[in-house]
Amino acid sequence: MSLVDKIKNAGVIGAGGAGFPTHAKVSGEADYVLLNAAECEPLLRVDQQLLVLYTDSILYGLDAIARQLQVKHAIIGIKKKHGDVIDVLRRRIRELRLAIEIHEMADFYPAGDEQIMVYELTGRIVPEGGIPIKVGCVVINVETTLNVNRSMEDMSVTDSFVTVSGDVPHPLTMKVPVGTPMKEVVAKAGITDLDGYAVIDGGPMMGRVLKDMDATVMKKTKGYIVLRTEHPLIVKKTATDRTAFLEGRSACEQCRMCTDLCPRHLIGHNLNPHKIMRAVKYNLARLEELTQANLCSQCGICTLFSCPAHLKPHQINFMIKQQLGANKLRYTPLTEAYHASAARDYRRLPVKRLIRHLGLYAFDKPAPMTDVTFASPEVRISLHQHVGAPAVAVVAAGDVVIKGQLIADVPEGTLGAAVHASVNGMVASITDQEITIKVG
Ligand code: SF4
Ligand code: SF4
Repeated sequence: MSLVDKIKNAGVIGAGGAGFPTHAKVSGEADYVLLNAAECEPLLRVDQQLLVLYTDSILYGLDAIARQLQVKHAIIGIKKKHGDVIDVLRRRIRELRLAIEIHEMADFYPAGDEQIMVYELTGRIVPEGGIPIKVGCVVINVETTLNVNRSMEDMSVTDSFVTVSGDVPHPLTMKVPVGTPMKEVVAKAGITDLDGYAVIDGGPMMGRVLKDMDATVMKKTKGYIVLRTEHPLIVKKTATDRTAFLEGRSACEQCRMCTDLCPRHLIGHNLNPHKIMRAVKYNLARLEELTQANLCSQCGICTLFSCPAHLKPHQINFMIKQQLGANKLRYTPLTEAYHASAARDYRRLPVKRLIRHLGLYAFDKPAPMTDVTFASPEVRISLHQHVGAPAVAVVAAGDVVIKGQLIADVPEGTLGAAVHASVNGMVASITDQEITIKVG
């Protein structure tokens, strides 16, 4: 069986939060494969620990992907500050005689944005509205690469590595069966009652504040950041669209800091959030003239760091993107030649500075990998964990399933990912959203 088929059968998806089906990502040819080990979101602690705990598996996984894509270069993008991890990687690459390079990156956010990583490691600029393969690059996450290696031994994706950090007594990172309730995961860090707390699903910058406290872990879950509801980051991230809109209309002073520090603007894309804010403020543009909002990566820098007036350009962009999508309006690139700003090197946002600005300095602590067991009576496994069509159940209520067994598959001819049981048990119910398995 080909590597692509093994990856597809194992249900591997981008574990960094995007959830793109990996078999589709690695099914062509490329010049570069880039292992994204930047882990630039503050407080998340998964990737660096995996690189040390599963060094050989990740390196072999990357090597297999490199061969599959017939690349000229396989490069690990990792921050220079992780010197101990880099030493381990260099030693094992040498001992295993693998053709893998290491690129040591500066400590800035968002170094892990695929397009930024492509530019930093190869000097190539992904065209506006494009994806890395447009310039011959495939960017792959650390945990995804580990899962690719496991798929080569016919092991499906049943768990996710998750950091719980923030205002918690014991920050930690752990391996969690997919479908485990978030509350049970957070409890392992010492928070058993979430009254008065908010939980960010993902990193503090790009993660979303959970509205549904009964949410469960997905294959792409990277972390939960727990903060008091009155923490300024939570207040900012939970502002309503109406508030963001009215504040923007009344208070934008057109200083253009949001544009000057925008990572996509700095690699030469025609994204100018201050112009979008101006258009919104003065009713200057029709929707079809705001398509540049589609170039926004939602990295959050403009809202959570740049704007001196505490406005929310990225939220405005998101609102516009939704309207553009509903009206099937796309951005049309104005050029094919992109040039990064000469000021870019000086405008990259240092993570330490970002952490202080976000009010997270007190929570910037290790979250050591810890062996834990979960006593949840059931897991609820989402059929919508990935980009593409939802998976379709191939089991029925009452079926006995074992860990690793296929329970939902990709509809023929569509983009999607297979889903597997994460525990031994019995299928209790199936909806168009999820499959519930009673454990035991
Ligand atoms: S940084 Fe804030 S005030 Fe300045 S232009 Fe952007 S949205 Fe307006
Ligand atoms: S969120 Fe703001 S800073 Fe980030 S890409 Fe979008 S406009 Fe630029």
